Amino acid sequence: MSAGAERDAVIIGGGHNGLVCAAYLAAAGLRVTVLERRNLVGGAAVTEEFHPGFRNSVAAYTVSLLNPKVIRDLDLTRHGLHIVERRLANFLPLEDGRYLKIGAGRSAAEVAKFSARDAAALVPYAERLDAIADLLRELALETPPNVTAGNWLAALPDMLRGARLGRRLARLDMRMRRDLLSLFAKSAGDYLDTWFESAPIKAAYGFDGIVGNYASPYSAGSAYVLLHHVFGEVNGRKGVWGHAIGGMGAISRAIAAAATMRGVEIRVASPVREVLVQRGRAAGVVTERGETLKARCVVSNLNPKLLFGKLMDPAQLDPDFRERMRNWRCGSGTFRMNVALSELPDFRVLPGRAPAEHHTAGIIMAPSLAYMDRAYADARATGWSQRPIVEMLIPSTLDGGLAPPGRHVASLFCQHVAPELPDGASWDEHRDEVADLVIDLVNSHAPNFKAAVLGRQVMSPLDLERTFGLTGGDIFHGALSIDQLFSARPALGHADYRSPVKALYLCGSGTHPGGGVTGLPGHNAAREIIKDFKQRRWRRRV
Ligand SMILES: Cc1cc2nc3c(=O)[nH]c(=O)nc-3n(C[C@H](O)[C@H](O)[C@H](O)COP(=O)(O)OP(=O)(O)OC[C@H]3O[C@@H](n4cnc5c(N)ncnc54)[C@H](O)[C@@H]3O)c2cc1C
Repeated sequence: MSAGAERDAVIIGGGHNGLVCAAYLAAAGLRVTVLERRNLVGGAAVTEEFHPGFRNSVAAYTVSLLNPKVIRDLDLTRHGLHIVERRLANFLPLEDGRYLKIGAGRSAAEVAKFSARDAAALVPYAERLDAIADLLRELALETPPNVTAGNWLAALPDMLRGARLGRRLARLDMRMRRDLLSLFAKSAGDYLDTWFESAPIKAAYGFDGIVGNYASPYSAGSAYVLLHHVFGEVNGRKGVWGHAIGGMGAISRAIAAAATMRGVEIRVASPVREVLVQRGRAAGVVTERGETLKARCVVSNLNPKLLFGKLMDPAQLDPDFRERMRNWRCGSGTFRMNVALSELPDFRVLPGRAPAEHHTAGIIMAPSLAYMDRAYADARATGWSQRPIVEMLIPSTLDGGLAPPGRHVASLFCQHVAPELPDGASWDEHRDEVADLVIDLVNSHAPNFKAAVLGRQVMSPLDLERTFGLTGGDIFHGALSIDQLFSARPALGHADYRSPVKALYLCGSGTHPGGGVTGLPGHNAAREIIKDFKQRRWRRRV
């Protein structure tokens, strides 16, 4: 797009949601420019070479939540997206020499090793959870009812949205309503305790309740986070997690190709310094280089705290909204490592270095909810735990293109380190100490692991913020707590992707339905922006 051309939308941030939003806007005929601060698009969904010859999904590392409608609408398969399933969903090596495998057709026999009662509960548990996840799947594609101030006429669209939601809830039978309430209000631990008695299955499921959630599995609200992680699907199979060939960057590249094909202009290495507001409405942006790009509307893919706290003049926002953003809770307590391996880990409980199904699984090294609770308490007290919570994935077992022949790459996704260290200590001084602990933990399960590490990339919460622009290192752009979800994401009155500043929209994970590589905030925001354009709120002056 030439410097003088009329631009309908400028999108700040080329994360996958910014790209999705851009593609939908362009498909509706809008002229769109995306400005991305890094020299590649995708945000947290990228594939990068982190050690010579070794590539990996360096932040987000596994796919399930990417919405099938987005995949279909943007024709992502034609743009190269190919998602494969793991051969086994999860593998939990335990300290007592046993292990648990979770996977289609296997789980019952595996869980029965620990409790026959738990094995019998697996199917009803999955059915009940999936029924609620179905409701979430529908709601995720919708704009939440907005809590509006003002007269009833202005509130009418949201009252209708609220009524539609009410009708949908009324269709649920009483047991499902009770489940829904439990999943929104309870802790993952309390919820799982009502279903199961043995520790390993509770750990396997409970892990989803603490991913990106810096809290004990017994903290109220963590059951919702568990639910958030099961509403996805892979190739039509609900609740399953898989691998995008080429890594998570392949998802972003496919979306970027779809957007470019529809006429979107994408500029990388283009950090935005400021949102331009003229006469109370967003009119464009100013880049770090000092270039001004005017547009009829501005769309932000950033964490709302970052947008309103750093890229806007506080005087443009009312004090109440500023306070909400100041108190927006960010800090998922995540520590992320990528390692290049000379060989596969040889687990004590399941020996063998030749590729096997458990090497393709999400390998959870946290044997019980009590272990996770302790890790959280340790992190609160001292910044991290000597016994960290680690999930390891070895994507090269499904995707040979990521590492040289015979070698492997592993993602280590570690939960529960303090977003900010106590007593003013800096992650710059401590990241390697924690990385060593993580390697030692894996090594305690697979004694050849430490010696197999050829190279490592270590990212503390501070590094996640520096590299990916994730405020507080928060992987979801803000905690998925009840006060930051649905009509309250990011603030009551602004859950419809419209910010308090006219012509300034939000399309990132800080909006409904929240974080994860879903494409949904981008999809939903585009729908609202297109609606406003159709209502000619911003009549073209051409
Ligand atoms: C370590 C980690 C592991 C995760 N694991 C998974 C997983 O396995 N599966 C899953 O589904 N989800 C996972 N997530 C969550 C998921 O990746 C994110 O919630 C999601 O990718 C966020 O997408 P987004 O487009 O909303 O925002 P982002 O990906 O954060 O994109 C925002 C973009 O804005 C850019 N930006 C920031 N400031 C500026 C500026 N001033 N000017 C221009 N551009 C700017 C950033 O560089 C970035 O590209 C993980 C996240 C992390 C960090």
